[in-house]
Amino acid sequence: MEKEKFVLAGKNLSELENFVLESGLTKFRAKQIYNWIYLKSVKSIEDMTDLPVSTRDLLKENAVLSPIFIKDKQISSDGTMKYLFENQDGTYAEAVLMRFDNRANLTACISTQVGCPMGCDFCATAKLGFVRNLTAEEIINQIYLIQADTGLKVTNIVYMGQGEPLLNFDNLILSINMFREQFQIGARRITISTCGIIPAVKKLAELDCQSTLAISLHAPNQIIRETIMPVAKKYKYDALLSELKNYTQITGRRVTVEYVLIGGINDSVSNAEELARNIAKLKCNVNLIIYNNHEKSKYKKPAKDSVQKFKYILEASGKKVTIRLERGADIDAACGQLSAKMQKKQT
Ligand code: SAH
Repeated sequence: MEKEKFVLAGKNLSELENFVLESGLTKFRAKQIYNWIYLKSVKSIEDMTDLPVSTRDLLKENAVLSPIFIKDKQISSDGTMKYLFENQDGTYAEAVLMRFDNRANLTACISTQVGCPMGCDFCATAKLGFVRNLTAEEIINQIYLIQADTGLKVTNIVYMGQGEPLLNFDNLILSINMFREQFQIGARRITISTCGIIPAVKKLAELDCQSTLAISLHAPNQIIRETIMPVAKKYKYDALLSELKNYTQITGRRVTVEYVLIGGINDSVSNAEELARNIAKLKCNVNLIIYNNHEKSKYKKPAKDSVQKFKYILEASGKKVTIRLERGADIDAACGQLSAKMQKKQT
């Protein structure tokens, strides 16, 4: 059997040092490799041009840059790119790269799981079911490969792709630390989105990681939340809100309340008023998301005027409200549309 190759991208300096020493190379080669990966996002070992040819040959024999590869890439008319990555076991992970005209930021939306176990009724990813957690290395390499492919530096990361990040807690934290230290992406430019796993929110608060926590609340009360998000049966609305208050107290950071407006389900004036009352005491901003349709959905978009009324009511209650720009809908890259099949390859 062929010897498994050492994966370079996703390793810290001391891990790379151990590897080069074990390979009979001098220690400072590790720093060169490190720079090629994290500063230059090099596409291949061959391109590490300040390494002697013999060193590159040795590396190629014993190592690979990434454990995953780009299987497919789609580009939307608005410039959004959707990446399909194939993992070593033949499963897939998706990520989306977004550029906004008026900002220099380059935001990548990445996945933490193959599929998702949460079963939110409106979400395409949920229809896939759950296959497995991604490893920290698989999470990190989504960003590495996007940078290598585009030659651009990702400035912001949102954990809003496939999966529930807080159910893959250790790998989430490992990957955040890696993005901060190796990729030099500030904690505050990283957002973790969760459907509200209360014990994990508590754990995250204790870590005080300074990234933004976004909570997929999506309902003004327990009854509506339960009908669209099964997780609400386990972690109740009021308990979630009080855990979030606790989070803001411990971290001193405002949370983002995400609210997907679904036509006729949670988008009425009274829904807005009830939401405003329930989150009045929570230190938060609100991000309204216009529902994105997908093949397997029975839900519909909200009417334009109900979005504006909803926004107005929340603003009148003193909240800062943004409406999330819809990106990449023509390539199914918008929120809730990530549903690449993750079964093993047929061939
Ligand atoms: N599991 C995490 C991460 C997913 S993030 C979470 O629940 O937060 C993806 C965001 O898009 C979540 O807020 C999710 O509820 C929302 N979403 C899912 N399907 C959607 C759809 N069809 N249209 C708009 N937003 C959707």
